[in-house]
Amino acid sequence: MRLTPFSLGLTTPLETARGSIDRREGLLVAVDPETDGESVPAPGLGEATPLPGWTESRSTCEAALRGVVASGSDSAGAALVDDALARIDPAETPAARHGLALALADARARDAGRSLAEQFVADANRPPPAETVPVNATIGDGDPEATAAAAENAVGEGFDYLKVKVGARSLDVDVERLRSVRRATGDGVALRADANGAWDRETAREAVERLAPLGLAYLEQPLPATDLDGLAALRGVGSGVAGRPGDRSPPVPIALDESVAARGLDAILDADAADAVVLKPMALGGPDRAVTAANRAREAGVEPVVTTTIDAVVARTAAVHVAAAVPEVAPCGLATGSLLDDDLAPDPCPVSDGAVAVPAGPGLAGDAFDGVP
Ligand SMILES: [Mg+2]
Repeated sequence: MRLTPFSLGLTTPLETARGSIDRREGLLVAVDPETDGESVPAPGLGEATPLPGWTESRSTCEAALRGVVASGSDSAGAALVDDALARIDPAETPAARHGLALALADARARDAGRSLAEQFVADANRPPPAETVPVNATIGDGDPEATAAAAENAVGEGFDYLKVKVGARSLDVDVERLRSVRRATGDGVALRADANGAWDRETAREAVERLAPLGLAYLEQPLPATDLDGLAALRGVGSGVAGRPGDRSPPVPIALDESVAARGLDAILDADAADAVVLKPMALGGPDRAVTAANRAREAGVEPVVTTTIDAVVARTAAVHVAAAVPEVAPCGLATGSLLDDDLAPDPCPVSDGAVAVPAGPGLAGDAFDGVP
């Protein structure tokens, strides 16, 4: 097993709970049967790209992976796979586990002659994966005119799902921004809004009531991550039977993102706090765990949406396979490659007309990553 550190610049700084960052730094994890004897059935590639606030730190991630490398001679074959994954706690070092789990899943899929998505659905005994995955465009903060212009631009590129970042300005301005987007794009475009936990309960309730007439596809993380009771209470606000005189708009569905990392999927389902959950394979501890979480959410009647943590191309491609393994998945947050000003390899699944094609394999993307690192 080989670890190769990388560092990629972001086109614009990324605001996180732990401050602003301008680079994405991580490690590639390569398993190589030629150098590891019979340890794995085929070469495999993984990526561990920690994100402050969502995963362990860069140094903790590297230490966890180097610990696995140091112990790699203890066992061989399937036992090595199980031992290595057992050594890493997904709650403590999710990014490290993601890198390792992805490398081993890629190796297994390559050995079986399947794409990663085909391997995931085979493991879960599910129907064949999708060939394309719909994606949303993300519209950042800006005044109402700039927000509407960015939305029109995205629609011109073929997106019919837009996610607008809110919560950085007053609620009055955010409502006007979303109305401007609706006026500019018409009713044929689905709108999501993401507040990243910015509002208190009073503001969030007012936001839901004022945004309901716009027919949002969902409002993401209107309250802080840990306030599951408050989030559960927001569901159904503004509800009524549409079409009767005096009735109010249908309720605004609530999606949770930061809450998944802060409280876990089980707590969200137990609290009945979400209509949709945003699943980030890097924060969940691996693509395998993300597929399991997506299936669990779906069975509980909650829509899973798969997004990246602004990762390099290897982990982004893995997230595309995770999304493809979810039948008729809702549009996902996978169009994030343009946020990096450099990458580890050409993107094997570029965005076109609001969707990405799922690489046919074998593994992550056939030979697209040969020579990486
Ligand atoms: Mg979000």
